Amino acid sequence: MLKFIYGTMGSSKTAQALILAHDIRTRMHRRVYLLKPSVDTRSPRIESRLGISADCLTFTPTDNVLDIIFAHGDTDLSTPVSAKVAVIIDEAQFCTPTQIEQLREFSTCDLADVFCFGLKTTYKAELFPGSRRLLELADSIEEIPSLCSCGAPATQNALFLNDTLQTTGPDTIIGDTEYRPLCYNCYKAALADAARGGNTPHGRKRNPGKPRV
Ligand SMILES: [Zn+2]
Repeated sequence: MLKFIYGTMGSSKTAQALILAHDIRTRMHRRVYLLKPSVDTRSPRIESRLGISADCLTFTPTDNVLDIIFAHGDTDLSTPVSAKVAVIIDEAQFCTPTQIEQLREFSTCDLADVFCFGLKTTYKAELFPGSRRLLELADSIEEIPSLCSCGAPATQNALFLNDTLQTTGPDTIIGDTEYRPLCYNCYKAALADAARGGNTPHGRKRNPGKPRV
């Protein structure tokens, strides 16, 4: 089984990945492999903003993900079904399409369930290549809901620099201090504002201690 669980920045994807790993280990007594692409250089561990973290394996864009898993455990393609494992990938949007296909193959042989947590789209509102392959191949797809600052469901991962929406640049800008989850209406307003050269703070958390004028 291959499952893609996606959400915007700040939608607690990583926390949910870690909770799932804990549940599978402690309730189902199955071996769990936690991994993330090494393009995310923030930490060698999987860390949630909610304060929980865990060690993980990392892999580069040229690695075969299955080689990484087999090198760190007792699993191979001849392992009996009773030894079924769970593979949990954080930041799965940074996997290459080939790596998603490797995980697809592994999860088809009754040896593993694979759960991929990640973003669906870039700040340019385009699918990440890895997320596109997941949408094409996954057995099931689930969205983790999150809210825009206006209260509507957030769907866009908007990137702001000096309160101006960014729509060009490399796909893989790491770090979320300037990312804000927006609904499409607020994203559209930020696009129009950026086109006018403005810097209205769409989606920015307001400091309740400072009266707005
Ligand atoms: Zn909104």
